[in-house]
Amino acid sequence: MTPRKAAAKVKKAEKAGGGASDDRAVALLQEYLRINTTNPPGSEGPAAEFLEAILAGSGIKAKIFTSPNGRPNLVARLKGKKGNALALMHHMDVVPCDETKWSVDPFGGELKDGAIWGRGAIDMKGQGLMHVLALCELAEAVDSGEVELERDALLVAVSDEEEAGADGAGWLVSTHADEVDCTELLTEGGAGLRDALPGVDAFACAMTEKSFLWLRLLADGEPGHGSVPPDDQAILKILDLIAELRKISRRLHMSAPVARLFASLADAGDAKLKAAIRAATSPAGPAVLPLIAKQLGSAQQALLRDTISITQVQAGYKSNVIPGSASATIDCRLLPDTDPDSYLKKLRAVAASHDVRIEEIDVGTSGGISEPGELYSALETACAQEAPSARFVQSVSPGFTDSRFWRSNGTSCLGLLPCLLTSELLSTIHGDDERLPVDEYLRGCRITTQVLRSVCAAK
Ligand SMILES: [Zn+2]
Repeated sequence: MTPRKAAAKVKKAEKAGGGASDDRAVALLQEYLRINTTNPPGSEGPAAEFLEAILAGSGIKAKIFTSPNGRPNLVARLKGKKGNALALMHHMDVVPCDETKWSVDPFGGELKDGAIWGRGAIDMKGQGLMHVLALCELAEAVDSGEVELERDALLVAVSDEEEAGADGAGWLVSTHADEVDCTELLTEGGAGLRDALPGVDAFACAMTEKSFLWLRLLADGEPGHGSVPPDDQAILKILDLIAELRKISRRLHMSAPVARLFASLADAGDAKLKAAIRAATSPAGPAVLPLIAKQLGSAQQALLRDTISITQVQAGYKSNVIPGSASATIDCRLLPDTDPDSYLKKLRAVAASHDVRIEEIDVGTSGGISEPGELYSALETACAQEAPSARFVQSVSPGFTDSRFWRSNGTSCLGLLPCLLTSELLSTIHGDDERLPVDEYLRGCRITTQVLRSVCAAK
């Protein structure tokens, strides 16, 4: 997309919105969702130009840094007196979708039943536009002399998050550290949950996330005829190891940040829940954890375990031939207090006992646990104003986000999509019929605008 085309798309979206700011915000998200950034291959160029044009409309000059593989990463900074930036960061790419399972065109940006539909509506183009519009609002307030900036306001829109960020945040942070330097950062990883407990809404703000280990398991054995099976078989080694890994991954463990999350949710629960959580977080916890885990959904259970998912298994080529080699890939997600190096060492020992080798595919560590600071207080205040009955709790993201690249450099990173969404809506992330209710999108826009202003503007 040429700059002129991007500007025309923004103009078209604004025209559809009739000028009113809420309508304009909705029209811009519809337009953003129509830009197909399915990763692989991503093709985020038109998305970056689209955002650049919106920012230019408010007098903000963005820079686009392109990775050696041609993937754009957009950065825009409003300078404050003290530096000390607050960054709003999102990824422009989306995961693939099975269009046959969707009830609308995933790239149609449709407005239907009070929601904006499309791949990326929740993960995370909706939040991306909340960031962009908040920065535009702040720049206009500065230009009009209404506010002065004390801290820098930084916007970062990256490519390639859905493929682990080697052409996006990973590349940007390692090659343009000064451009994306910040002391606090807000991105995805947590969300507002409707009925986090029956009748209780809660904004779950992620203070850290699970680390990941993507590993390949490789085994060799004796090839042969299916009618005379040898003892030493590659497939059997892989299967035996997988069976043992399944046992290991069922072990439950209450880590400190998860215990904090459970305890703050228990405050809002009934006596039975309070007693259960008190038991789970007590020294006797390990004994009662299995009973509690049974009551939980898979998303909560994932916070009580170092999970191992078997994601690929490969072997063989004919029904009567025993192959001489077999492999599998596994996706391990580790709790904040599990050390990835020692965990991998343990897995290597288990694998070796089955005559299986382990190769690393990719490893990402959470970078630690962020402490509540100015951003956290501003989010808590803004969420309380916009949704007074919802609680605000510290949580752990079961998935990884790009914040790990900043958190490991000492930036305090929080993950929160400031909208209240049902678990049904949240399950459309990476699933079918992804959509964001208009009311919640606008709530998120208001919260983000207020947070950015209250953190960055001079008091
Ligand atoms: Zn995402």
